[in-house]
This record gives sequence, structure tokens and C-alpha cells, in this order.
Amino acid sequence: MLVSEIDIITPQTVNDCLLILSSHETEHRLIAGGTDAVVRMKEGKWRPSTWINIKRLKELRYIKEKNGTIHIGPLTTHTDIIHSPLLQKKANVLVEAAREVGAVQMQNMGTIGGNIGTASPAGDTIPALYVLDATIELQSLNTKRLIPINQFFIGPGRTIMKQNEMITNIIIQPQAENEVGIFQKLGPRKAQSISIVNVAIMLSMAKDRKCLEGKIAFGSVAPTIVRAKKCEALLPLSPLTDDIIENIAKVAWKEVMPITDGRATAEYRRDMASALLKRGLYRLMKRWENK
Ligand SMILES: Cc1cc2nc3c(=O)[nH]c(=O)nc-3n(C[C@H](O)[C@H](O)[C@H](O)COP(=O)(O)OP(=O)(O)OC[C@H]3O[C@@H](n4cnc5c(N)ncnc54)[C@H](O)[C@@H]3O)c2cc1C
Repeated sequence: MLVSEIDIITPQTVNDCLLILSSHETEHRLIAGGTDAVVRMKEGKWRPSTWINIKRLKELRYIKEKNGTIHIGPLTTHTDIIHSPLLQKKANVLVEAAREVGAVQMQNMGTIGGNIGTASPAGDTIPALYVLDATIELQSLNTKRLIPINQFFIGPGRTIMKQNEMITNIIIQPQAENEVGIFQKLGPRKAQSISIVNVAIMLSMAKDRKCLEGKIAFGSVAPTIVRAKKCEALLPLSPLTDDIIENIAKVAWKEVMPITDGRATAEYRRDMASALLKRGLYRLMKRWENK
């Protein structure tokens, strides 16, 4: 398809965009940074009759604290996230995930809204958003809905978002003083690579290695991101000694349900999910002890 054959509308305000979304009867798709959209357009996978270019909606690019939560605009780029002092201090797991998205060019162009909108089970920011208890704000011309992230995705590339809606805000819970978080990824190459497996971990710690509560979210091991509830249940039972960490990693091997695809076999993914969780927990214990 030639660029001259593509129909693109560029709204200047969010309200204009919502108006277009509500009145547009033919199939349309938003385009933000375009890093996923252009690839899929070239592959012929995404062929809407109209693209709605939202890159100019500067009002959707922000990171701010509000009522004890952190609000992130969907047009916030991965680079914005990496360089945000607020997120470095209060949501470092998301900063670490953003650093793993492709190479610098992808981080400069790609947005968090686009990473969520693509709804890939391998999307790097999504497990981080799960352990930060994110809520996705969806707006249409006349309604606003707040959706907990674990109810937003319904399958690879599929979400509950309607054709007349767009993501207008991502709300996360900031890490408390006694919380430590980490993001771990295995990709086929060092840079520019989609995850074979990734995991985000957030632990709420007490004295020594005692964990009060923990959240573990795996990517690329199921049709959507999944919380490892069986592993999470083991975290507060006893201090996180090396033996306990080994045991939790073994439970993860059984708990994840990956498939074999062009990038890896299911068995390799199980092995790597277990290894990434173990490494992540060891690293978190070090971070906690040095805090
Ligand atoms: C070479 C390469 C390497 C990559 N490496 C990685 C990687 O390591 N990890 C990773 O996670 N991803 C990776 N990606 C994928 C991509 O860069 C990210 O998913 C990026 O965050 C997408 O953001 P975008 O703004 O470019 O989205 P776009 O391509 O503009 O849009 C993607 C989808 O999101 C929808 N969308 C965008 N904004 C909104 C909104 N506000 N409301 C509703 N829907 C919206 C669009 O309609 C579209 O369906 C890579 C891509 C390439 C080309």
C-alpha cells in the first residue's frame, strides 16, 4: 500500500478526536508513535479505511501526581518514562520496563498508550502496569470508564475498548517506602527484540527478608499478561531465603502456560520464566538489603 493511498485524519484536540471516533462509521484505528502501526500496516495486518493520527494531542502527554496516585498520559513516550524523576522514585519497575522496549529510536517514538493498545502478550510495559495496580481510563464523546488493567485485555491484540473510545489516562499506585520492584526480560537479541518471556515483580517487605505481600506478572506465557497467583501465595509464608526462592521458581515453572511459536518452545519459555523469577527475587533481596 502506498502512503498516498492511506486516509489519515489529524485532530488537534482530544475533544475533536472523540467527535471523530463517535461519528466515523467506517473502520478506523488510532496511530500514536506509529512503531507498531507502521509495521502492521506494511504487513497488511492492520488495514483500516482511516487512520486517526493523535500524535499532536499534547494534552495526552504528561506524568503527574494526583490524590496519592500517579497519572500518565497515553502519549507519554518510553523515553519520557525513563527520564521521569517521579517514576524513577515511585515506579521504578515501569522505568525498567520502558528501558527494555526496543532500541532508543523505538523508545523515543513509541508511547505507553500504543504499547497497551497493541495488546501484545509480550508488551514490556504491561506486566509492570499489572504490579502497579494500573487503571486504564477510556473516554468516548459522552462517557468515561475506569478499567482495572487485569480486565482490559481479552486476548492477543484484543481489548475491551470500543471503536468510539480511546485511552486518555493510565493511573498507577506509587510504590510505598517498603516496596521494591523489578522488571526482567529475556529477548532473542540485546536490543530491538520482543520479549520471549518477561516478568515484573513487586514486593512489600518487612524486616530482614520477610515479605508481607508480593505481586508477580508474567508476559509471553499466556494469551494475555498473567499474575502468578500460586507463586504470590508463597511469598509471605516465610522469609525469602535462597531455598524458598528456589521453591517459588519451581512453582512458576508449573504455573505458567506458554505456547510454542516462532520465537521459542513452550518448554524453553517455562524454563526461562522460572529462571527470570528466581533472578528477579534474588536481585530484589539485594536491593532491599541495600536500601
Ligand atoms: C523494531 C521494533 C522493536 C520493538 N521492540 C519492542 C520491545 O522490545 N518491547 C515492546 O513492548 N514493544 C516493542 N515494539 C513495539 C512498539 O514499539 C511498542 O508497542 C510501542 O509502545 C507502541 O507505541 P506507538 O505509540 O508506536 O503505538 P502505535 O503503533 O501508534 O499504535 C499501536 C496501537 O495502539 C493503539 N493506540 C495508540 N494510542 C492509543 C490510545 N491513546 N488509545 C487507544 N489506542 C491507542 C493504536 O490504535 C494501535 O492499535 C517494537 C517495535 C518495533 C518496530
